[in-house]
Amino acid sequence: MKDGKLGVALVGLGMYSEGQLVPALQKAAHCYLAGIVSGNPHKLEVWKEKYDLKEDACYSYRNFDQIKDNPEIDIVYVALPNSLHAEAVIAAARAGKHVICEKPMAITVHDCDRMIAACKEAGKMLSIGYRLHFEPHNKEAMRLGQQKVFGAVKMVEAAHSLNEVEGWRLDKALSGGGPLMDVGIYCVQAARYVTGSEPIAVTAQEGIKRDHEKFKTVEEAIEWQMEMGDGSIAHCKSSYSVKENNFRVETESGWFELSPAFPYSGVKGKTSEGEMKFPQVTQQALQMDDFALCIKEGRQTSVSGEEGRQDVKILQAIYKAMETGERVEVNGQ
Ligand code: NDP
Repeated sequence: MKDGKLGVALVGLGMYSEGQLVPALQKAAHCYLAGIVSGNPHKLEVWKEKYDLKEDACYSYRNFDQIKDNPEIDIVYVALPNSLHAEAVIAAARAGKHVICEKPMAITVHDCDRMIAACKEAGKMLSIGYRLHFEPHNKEAMRLGQQKVFGAVKMVEAAHSLNEVEGWRLDKALSGGGPLMDVGIYCVQAARYVTGSEPIAVTAQEGIKRDHEKFKTVEEAIEWQMEMGDGSIAHCKSSYSVKENNFRVETESGWFELSPAFPYSGVKGKTSEGEMKFPQVTQQALQMDDFALCIKEGRQTSVSGEEGRQDVKILQAIYKAMETGERVEVNGQ
């Protein structure tokens, strides 16, 4: 803690940490960049200079556990490849730190359970990097759907696809899967937060795989359907070959849509009554500030480990449905 702000240590100095989390920490009101953890000594040196960090606030994965002796670090923010989240979160909790973990929380429900248990045992809070819960257009979509402003939700159509993907995202051992794990998770989130209900069962189909070499261990594209607990249905798709970023919600007496729905900035929305007018915000600053305030005020985060675990459970059910061609009940997972 410094000047009333909680100190955050970033673990994994990749694209998201550098491009989004550091700028957000510079804008945040209740937390600041207090430390870094990296496997790359050159990056540690460069970041230390650039962000004016103390020598003893820079850690490698090998001496990461020494973070326990640094009272200026209150929160560890894990932004590593997906399959590495679990061990880093558990280590951070054991070092006595609160933790934010990037999405997807882990690649198995078992890992999610271990992460939740480690944080509980340490008496520390765990949050998942669901930045869109702090974005005004997405928050409005939650209100419109959950409060049935245009009547009950009948259908959600959501698509999130990226192209030009490379590196660990194409390696199942590190990613846990293809576009579903990386960006399809946003469609699962949208269906859940718009309806305020959980998927009961899912069906899924693998999309056409054109590049068998590139997509050797993960799907290139996937489509899936979710029977939601409130009686609505969700049709979703995700791929690594095109760009898509939207959702549309049909309700009893109208509709609303966000397009683009999931970017860091520039979200736009419309309803059957006109355009949404909300400011653009720095989502990650609001997300981290909210977590810092949760810690200070002893209140539960709305984007908890349990919320992350629920998504991983649904993603696993979707893969099972894709592989078996059968309708898979989510709670049977
Ligand atoms: P990057 O590949 O850009 O960065 C990951 C970093 O993890 C690397 O730079 C490296 O940092 C470290 N790392 C440690 N071990 C490995 C390994 N075996 N292979 C590769 N990197 C390793 O990924 P992103 O920053 O894009 O993604 C990181 C996490 O953040 C993912 O879980 C992703 O899903 C999530 N994310 C979330 C977003 C959101 O909007 N919420 C957006 C983008 C990503 P170092 O060299 O410092 O050790």
